[in-house]
Order: sequence, then C-alpha cells, then structure tokens
Amino acid sequence: MTEPNVTVDPAVLEGLDAWRALPIKQQPQWADAAELDRVTAELSKLPPLVFAGEVDQLTDRLARVARGDAFLLQGGDCAETFDGATADKIRNRVKTILQMAVVLTYGASMPVVKMGRMAGQFAKPRSSDSETRDGVTLPAYRGDIVNGYDFTEESRRADPDRILRGYHTAASTLNLIRAFTQGGFADLREVHSWNKGFSENPANKRYESLARDIDRAIRFMGAAGADFDSLKRVEFYSSHEGLLMDYERPLTRIDSRTGNPYDTSGHFLWIGERTRELTGAHIDFFSRIQNPIGVKLGPSTTSDDVAKLIDILDPNRTPGRLTFITRMGAGVIRDALPPLLEAVKNSDALPVWVTDPMHGNGITTPNGYKTRRFDDVVDEVKGFFEAHREVGTFPGGIHVELTGDDVTECLGGAEMIDEETLASRYESLCDPRLNHKQSLELAFLVAEELAVLA
Ligand code: PEP
Ligand code: MN
Repeated sequence: MTEPNVTVDPAVLEGLDAWRALPIKQQPQWADAAELDRVTAELSKLPPLVFAGEVDQLTDRLARVARGDAFLLQGGDCAETFDGATADKIRNRVKTILQMAVVLTYGASMPVVKMGRMAGQFAKPRSSDSETRDGVTLPAYRGDIVNGYDFTEESRRADPDRILRGYHTAASTLNLIRAFTQGGFADLREVHSWNKGFSENPANKRYESLARDIDRAIRFMGAAGADFDSLKRVEFYSSHEGLLMDYERPLTRIDSRTGNPYDTSGHFLWIGERTRELTGAHIDFFSRIQNPIGVKLGPSTTSDDVAKLIDILDPNRTPGRLTFITRMGAGVIRDALPPLLEAVKNSDALPVWVTDPMHGNGITTPNGYKTRRFDDVVDEVKGFFEAHREVGTFPGGIHVELTGDDVTECLGGAEMIDEETLASRYESLCDPRLNHKQSLELAFLVAEELAVLA
C-alpha cells in the first residue's frame, strides 16, 4: 500500500496536507515539537492497520444499509484505554456485539453490519482545554493517545510517544478481533457459548431461548445438507472518531492498486459533533480519503448544514460513502430529525442514517457521576424509528457506547441501577457505557422495531 505502482496525482498528495492551513479544533498542545516530528515520521513508516480492499468492502456493505437491505450495529467504549486492551475485556466486548447482532439478525431477518468502536478509539474531544481541582489547573485528559488520566502535571502532559503506543495497542486489539472473528469463535454454531460467563438476568434468558431456536434451525439445515462453511467467519469492522490529526495523517496511505488515499487507522472514521465545521481541518481532510465516513449531527443541525456536508464529503453520491449519526437527545429527536430526513429524501443523496442515543442524553447526578438514563436511551431509539416511519426513510443503524463488563455507569435497565449503585462499578474514564445486560436489552428492543418494518 505504501509503494504505489500507479501514478499518483501530485495534487492528491498535496491535498492530504491542506488541513494544516485551516482552522482546527480539539488538538493537543504537544510538549515537544521535535519529539512529535520523530513520532509522526516513525508512524508513517509502520504497516497499515487495515487494507484498502476491506475498506471498499465496508463501503459496499454500507451501501446495502443505505438502500434498506441491512442494518448497522456500531458499539464500544467511549474511550478505549491502553490498560483496558486485555484479552478478557476485548473478548467480552466482541461477544456482546455478536450477541446483539444475532438478536437483531434473527428479529429482523436482515443482515447486520458489525462494527466496533474499537482498535483506535483513544482520542477524546473535551468541552474545556483544562480541568481545575482544589485550585490546581491542569490540561484536560484527551484520551490515552495524548495524555494520562491521573491528575498530575507529569501525567497530563501531552506526550507524543503515546501516539506510537496507541498504534501498537490498536494493532494488538485488532489482531485479537481478527482471530476471534476469523478463527471460529464467532461461528454462529457457537451462539450459546457467547452467553457463557455473563451473569443470569432476563435479557440473557431471552437470549438463551433465541439461541436455542437458532440451534434448532441450524441442525435442521445441516440435516438437510446445507454447507455451513460461511458461518465460520464473521465480517467485523473497526472504527473510531477521526480526531487526532497527528495519528490519522501519518496512517493515511496511497493504495497501490488505484493511487487513492485511504486512512488505514481503521475501516470507518467519523467526525465528531465538535469538529464538523464546514470549513475546518477535519472536514477537509476526511473529504479526501476513500474510507466510508460518518458525521455526528447534534440537535442544532440545519438542513442546510446537511446539504453542505453531503456536497463536500460525498460529491459523487457514492452509496455507502456517507453516514449521518444523529445524537439529538430523547426530548428533541422527534422534532429535530424529520425535517433533516425530509430534506435529504428530496435530494439525490442516499446517506446511511444511524442513531447515537447516548450523547444527547448525558446528565450528572448530585453525587457527581456523569451518567445516562437507560429509559432516555430507549426513548431516543424509539423516536429515531418514529421519525423514519413518518418520513418514509430507512433507519439504518444504531451507535452505542457499551462494554461487555458488568459496570454500573448508566441508570436503569432491568437491574434498575440507581444513583447510589453507580459508585459500585463505575470504570469509564469518559462517558458512561451500557453494560452487557443493558446492551442485550436494547438489542431486543431494536429488533422489535425492525421486525415491524420487515
Ligand atoms: C463520542 O462519540 O464519544 C463523542 C464525543 O460524540 P459526539 O461527537 O457526538 O459528542
Ligand atoms: Mn462518548
């Protein structure tokens, strides 16, 4: 991928650095410029994490979603951490996503495109550049790829070496994901085993009964002579917010088959709500790469913003190229989303529409925890389906912050986590995630909404 045997248009190469002259947000102040240069030069020589062919395949899968023939499930941590890249945690997250996907596929009889917020979700946008505790002010935590969470001067220093550690942690995470999803672990005949190790609860019970139905169907098909080789392997894509330009630019490479640039840090990159201004650095950079791109849309988004984003990011109207991830808030989505859907429906564009029911529903409890109510998450998902039904567009997917562990970060769900309980196992360094049970519960609900469509 690095040594093109096709001629590369010099304007394409030059364009990949045009963002440097544009206004840019949410980048760290690195402590040492020479150190940063050394790191980005090294990163630009390291192997790509994903390959152009896989990225194109994902664009094709997302085109099916755009047409209403498949559904996208995207989930993972708000912020991955270096310490959190353990076999157990990665496996539990992959299992949770596989289980949710089975619930959705079975409930809706529709293929599900599986995508982790994994193997690169290390950089975070922050509402303030600094944080003050007990009269001491230090730079804000921007994710493990920039600085440390501990509130000390040393830890909060933006350290370029962390960029390389981010790359290597992403590589080992992706390696394990590939092993699990290509090596038999994700075989649909293992549908029961994905539920093992998770504690008993109503959502798990419901899952078990669904897994029994699937087993029976597979045994029947097997007896009838079906060939199950295709069940052994599962397509699983990686994604993260394309935020930290000193990571994304060095990992952007020219595809030797076509001469086109791909950001090889992940299959899918999205631009966050805070960095999507039309004339800013992020929109310019991501408009120039071949990967399918997402853009988060908050409650203040206008139809005009959407039309302009389409023109810049998807000028050729390539199906699967552009995904809008709406994060409006439960109380707002039913009013704010339909006019956007209507405007796009009446245009020549066919983006994928995904709901992120997490980021519009943040609250802080009196005891100081950043949390979300499971009921609000559910309500935004319902509002998303209602809005699409009203306008006649396809609700293409769901984007959630989740973990496979039994954390207590979001309020409610079948276990009825309350404000007091939050303290018992709150592990996120950033936004609160659905735990394993809440994730399965949500999947059953989405499956019911999809079944109505089918
Ligand atoms: C996120 O996805 O963690 C995030 C920061 O989202 P948004 O850009 O929607 O605020
Ligand atoms: Mn988040």
